[in-house]
Amino acid sequence: MKNHEHHHNGHHEHEGGHDHKGHASDHHQGSHDHHDHHAHMIEDFKKRFYINTALSIPVLAFSEMIQNFFGVEFSFLGMGYVAAGLATFIFFYGGWPFLKGLKDELSEGGPGMMTLIAIAITVAWAYSTAVVFGLEGKVFYWELVTLIDIMLLGHWLEMRSVMGASKALEKLAELMPSEAHKVEGDDIHEVKISELKKGDIILIKPGEKVPADGKIVEGDSDLNESALTGESKPVQKSQGDEVIGGAINGDGSLKVEVKSSGEDSYLNKVIRLVEEAQQTKSKTQNLANRAAGWLAYIALGVGVVTFIAWAFFSAQGTDFALERMVTVMIITCPHALGLAVPLVVAISTALSAKNGLLIRNRTAFENSRKISAIVFDKTGTLTEGNFGVNRVEVLDGRSEDELLATAAAIEQSSEHPIARGIVKEAKNRELKLPSASDFSATKGKGVSARVDGATYQIVSPGYLKEEGIDLPEGTNSDKAETVVFVLEEGKLIGFIALADQIRKESKGAIKTLKEKGIKVLMATGDNEQTAKAVADELELDGYYSQVLPHQKSELIEELQSKGEYVAMTGDGVNDAPALAKADIGIAVGSGTDVAAETADIILTESSPEDISRLILFGRATYKKMVQNLVWATGYNVVAIPLAAGVLYSQGIMINPAVGAALMSLSTIICAANAQLLRLKIR
Ligand code: ADP
Ligand code: MG
Repeated sequence: MKNHEHHHNGHHEHEGGHDHKGHASDHHQGSHDHHDHHAHMIEDFKKRFYINTALSIPVLAFSEMIQNFFGVEFSFLGMGYVAAGLATFIFFYGGWPFLKGLKDELSEGGPGMMTLIAIAITVAWAYSTAVVFGLEGKVFYWELVTLIDIMLLGHWLEMRSVMGASKALEKLAELMPSEAHKVEGDDIHEVKISELKKGDIILIKPGEKVPADGKIVEGDSDLNESALTGESKPVQKSQGDEVIGGAINGDGSLKVEVKSSGEDSYLNKVIRLVEEAQQTKSKTQNLANRAAGWLAYIALGVGVVTFIAWAFFSAQGTDFALERMVTVMIITCPHALGLAVPLVVAISTALSAKNGLLIRNRTAFENSRKISAIVFDKTGTLTEGNFGVNRVEVLDGRSEDELLATAAAIEQSSEHPIARGIVKEAKNRELKLPSASDFSATKGKGVSARVDGATYQIVSPGYLKEEGIDLPEGTNSDKAETVVFVLEEGKLIGFIALADQIRKESKGAIKTLKEKGIKVLMATGDNEQTAKAVADELELDGYYSQVLPHQKSELIEELQSKGEYVAMTGDGVNDAPALAKADIGIAVGSGTDVAAETADIILTESSPEDISRLILFGRATYKKMVQNLVWATGYNVVAIPLAAGVLYSQGIMINPAVGAALMSLSTIICAANAQLLRLKIR
């Protein structure tokens, strides 16, 4: 599985590290706190913003510069001190989140956005207060209070939009498959995970996520618990062992007695998907915070150099030098940088969520613009994965129904679309299924189990070839049928022919991708005729049939070595290695849990059409981020030297007021630019 970047957004003061290692239900608890905490933070920013803005009005009114601007003039005894008092309150009350953020950033690994803001407001406040109490110079109170107001507003809006996006994500994650297979006698029903009760027996098929905590009562398998324990090596478990909700089942099929209600486990799954989606940060996002860190160094460095230059190498006095230094430090803090990228992220996540894209890895999402080749799995991805049985052929004496019943008894334990088709047909014919034991699956080849004391296999044509068994008459038709063969103790006794339908969205999706110059390929475990029929119908650039799971991932590797930037789309257990190998793994939401767990992006509506949307929207999102970074930091290139007084001799110099105006402008441009993203997706 890929390493998703799980970084905490330090300056949001999310409570630190939710470990994904804790026991499932502890985790659930933690997540709720997390949520409430977030909501509480939003309220807090809002309150600070309103109170500060109200108190800022008199500070602005008392400022000489604002009075000049509006052509009014008034003053009263002690006005300067009243302004100082108000500004000091605003500095401590409104500036508190930033000062606290400074402390967190410095203790957590280096300066970022909060440091930059904290430097600017601390310098502005300390200097102005010194001036009020006698230092020669200018008072920067109005700049101080507007800076704090805008930063509070920005953070409040940002957190609110992130919260909005997470609601959208939550809705989306709830749409993910949420059924468990409940065993009642010989019957297996699909029930909602949330309806599972203690003591229920459930069946867990290969590649499925364990829906609830419990104890194995039958079967054995390797379980991957890496998402829960961090241990990446699968653990072999058998009867009597405990399984944890959230672990991923390997190739065996298990019957498990449920220990705790499924509701917790299910909520957990949803919350974890959402948290993961929120916590991953793309390279571009981290870039913004790093840029802020560098600007913090620049603010301090250039500030000091400016002071030294004016104080010691010019005819100006130290007062002038100090004022220049302060101006540089205030101006270097760009309002927009704190908002530029987060706003784009918030809007983009919310919009993708609304459009059926659950993004688990943001870097992959932003990189989707680079895709040059895309490999599709066939069954369940380009096709519905909804097999109907066309015919059942028996090669020894027994009846059709008998063969079908035996096959269905075995296939009940498989997650494969073919298996579902066979079980459905047996149910339609109201057959009584014998009981099967010792089930095991060989990815990409088939399944086996024991029924009535004999070992049966249901396998692909490829497997027959490997075993040197000739294909029987009637399977080499040109019909695009998927045929599976039934073996008893290694001897061919019959076959079942099934057919699937191409998803109605597939054709349009592939056309759009090809128009974009992307090579569209298909890799399937199915037979040559069926593969060819689908490839012709969809006008693919190429296809590979009878591909085993590891060959799918080798194929991806081969394309990569030819310089292609490869996306893989799949739904099954057999696709997981390729999904992990591809530059961008895209899982179909209706598929198995392993596929979803391995992929970078999940198409919750299972429509291949969403892939072209994904590419377009990923591209638009990336562009907006870069544009905003440029808008947010670019003005510094001009503003810092001017503020330092480089062109003083030409009579050009920026004061903080002009700087603040410039910054507000760049903030507004960034915010508006981020909103324009809404036009990029339908
Ligand atoms: P795809 O790549 O089209 O999703 P798979 O790799 O999952 O296909 O399967 C490849 C072939 O293996 C199938 O066409 C079928 O012949 C056989 N197979 C896999 N699973 C099963 C099963 N549960 N029952 C019968 N045959 C199976
Ligand atoms: Mg498939």
